[in-house]
Amino acid sequence: MYTYMKGMLYCLHCNEETEHTITYEGDTIKRIKCEKCGTELEINEESAKKNFTEEFIERILTKPQRMTEELQKDITDFLFSLPARIITKPYRLLGEVKDIAKSKKKNEE
Ligand SMILES: [Zn+2]
Repeated sequence: MYTYMKGMLYCLHCNEETEHTITYEGDTIKRIKCEKCGTELEINEESAKKNFTEEFIERILTKPQRMTEELQKDITDFLFSLPARIITKPYRLLGEVKDIAKSKKKNEE
């Protein structure tokens, strides 16, 4: 079961605070999407656990009652400190776009 929460978070792509939709699967953050540029971060809990303390993960990734200012700041800090490999989606998307551009060019030739 998915639940959604909106919050102002710093987007690494837009370089500013934008509205984000946070998707929870059950009680855990599944993905965070910037509503402005559409960049979607998929959070891999296993990788996250290797890089952060249980307590931090618990606080960030577990569904809070509501989006507080403190939580927004924590999530933004979390996004900044994420190792690139946890952020899978933008790179995958970029690859797909490149592939599409390539095949389009081929067809035109
Ligand atoms: Zn953005």
